[in-house]
Amino acid sequence: MKKLEMLYEGKAKKIFATDKPDLVIQEFKDDATAFDATKRGVIKGKGPVNNKISVVLFQLLESKGVKTHFVKVLSDTEMLVKKLSIIPIEVTIRNIVAGGMSKLLGIEEGRVLKEPVLEYHYKSDELHDPLINDYHIKTLDIVKEKDLETIKKKSFEINNVLKHFFGEHNLDLVDFKLEFGHHKGKVLLGDEISPDTCRFWEKGTGRKMDKDRFRRDMGKVEETYQEMLKIVLEPQAGDDSK
Ligand code: 5GP
Repeated sequence: MKKLEMLYEGKAKKIFATDKPDLVIQEFKDDATAFDATKRGVIKGKGPVNNKISVVLFQLLESKGVKTHFVKVLSDTEMLVKKLSIIPIEVTIRNIVAGGMSKLLGIEEGRVLKEPVLEYHYKSDELHDPLINDYHIKTLDIVKEKDLETIKKKSFEINNVLKHFFGEHNLDLVDFKLEFGHHKGKVLLGDEISPDTCRFWEKGTGRKMDKDRFRRDMGKVEETYQEMLKIVLEPQAGDDSK
């Protein structure tokens, strides 16, 4: 597989073309940004951690019938993925109130929600990823109704799989963000699933194990990313693949 020209550089990843038109290389960087990139920094070792955690979680989701863009691992910081035309919506699922929902509604962080909350945010840095709903998406033709139904259904399935997985590792999955795209007519899960895109709180202590440590200057950022990788690589109770 040849790595060709860079197609796109985002805040935390780069995308490169390959000699196969429908496959691209997703490379994870150590760069970190927060609050619409007004806060910038580097989390040493984050690239490899997020690549490896995403690999484990994409493989887990595939094994549970969720179709993702993941093809194979190429190196510490690179994975081969199916080329997507990205749907410009970020899907957020929340199990516990934190971050944006706490601010939006003035609810204290930590309230466990009776049912998971699904939010759509329109992907636009300029507009600060505004919250939108099904009606905006339908009337503005952002994605077809049938595909939106698939995205919604898959997002809740992903929540169930991930909540269970992290629960077995003594972590509460507070919330996370997903991105989907089209590949050969199908809707696939794209992007990454990592401490950059999820909130994890240690059960019992509530210790934050994600990018909030960087966003909120809590210290032990690099150490926590490494610890999360170790946790994700631990065999799960009932895992007989070892
Ligand atoms: P919130 O809306 O509370 O800021 O974010 C909810 C969840 O989605 C958090 O786990 C957060 O990490 C993730 N998330 C939302 N928007 C973004 C984004 O633009 N970039 C990243 N890396 N994560 C996001």
